[in-house]
Amino acid sequence: MPTAVVDISDRPAILATGASPSLSIVVPIYNEEDSIPHLYRRLSAALERYGHAYEILAVDDGSRDQSFALLSELAASDPRLRVVRFRRNFGQTAAFAAGFDRARGDYIVTIDADLQNDPDDIPMLLARAGEGYDVVSGWRARRQDAFINRKLPSMIANRLISWVTGVHLHDYGCSLKVYRADVVKNINLYGELHRFIPAVASWQGVAVTEMAVRHEPRRYGTSKYGISRTVRVLLDLITVRFLLSYSTRPMQIFGLWGLVSILVGFAISLYLAFTKIIYNADIGSRPLLLLGVLLIILGVQFIGIGLMGELLMRTYYETQHKQIYVVREEINGV
Ligand code: UDP
Ligand code: MG
Repeated sequence: MPTAVVDISDRPAILATGASPSLSIVVPIYNEEDSIPHLYRRLSAALERYGHAYEILAVDDGSRDQSFALLSELAASDPRLRVVRFRRNFGQTAAFAAGFDRARGDYIVTIDADLQNDPDDIPMLLARAGEGYDVVSGWRARRQDAFINRKLPSMIANRLISWVTGVHLHDYGCSLKVYRADVVKNINLYGELHRFIPAVASWQGVAVTEMAVRHEPRRYGTSKYGISRTVRVLLDLITVRFLLSYSTRPMQIFGLWGLVSILVGFAISLYLAFTKIIYNADIGSRPLLLLGVLLIILGVQFIGIGLMGELLMRTYYETQHKQIYVVREEINGV
């Protein structure tokens, strides 16, 4: 099975050593009243069997059905079920973020509420994490969704994301994933970014792998997404790529292209000026003149954007006391 970043030879095998790490299961919930009783029963049973301390963080993303009522009823008799209720629908990424912020476990497991993934796969993913992986991503190898509007766009998107990010996974969209808590708490989520966590994490130098998991057709409720998600995911991909490559040095990307553009524009203008002065040629009607001028203006704008980016980047990091690096561990440190 192809994996993304795989040198874990120096990692402590946490789960394998007998230490008992605790788990936080984060479940985003948007109008899932049909599925919640089944979800709670099957998830609890699977975790009970697994035997580690756990909490289930159900994040109600502004459901308009009985989801919250059902959850609060269940939570009344089970302190391990924690429920967060959003004021309105903020989206799946926000729901994950709320869960990550509140999670107290050593490992965070994400799973959808619709039981398309099997909670009984969780121990298997955690065992793999215990070998030293920080992120274990589920891969719906036999995905049970419609082909044309779900599987095909997803296949293309996965190829594209793998290619652009350099982190090769078959299934970025699978919600069933296991993260070490400290890794995922370090990542800020916006837009549809939750699916890019493995890529972002891998850039931070953590070990990412994937594992085939079971997948079933949706039996309760209906899917919350249509084909339009593909476009939003693609736009986010551009953001992610840019943020990770250039967010601390915007001038180097914009400035470089700005300079190239100005130089080419300048060369063209010089050539036209030469023909005008030496041969007295008529250059006023030449498309090349337009191109030369355009390139110079574009170049100046690019450099301006680069400088703006530098200012914004400093504001971003310094006002939030963000670091431009990620520390793995420290000895005799602060
Ligand atoms: N979801 C959410 N907020 C939203 C849309 C979806 O919390 O705005 C939840 C939903 O309840 C489910 C998960 O995200 O638990 C995945 O949604 P869905 O199963 O509809 O997506 P699909 O599996 O069809 O891609
Ligand atoms: Mg689903």
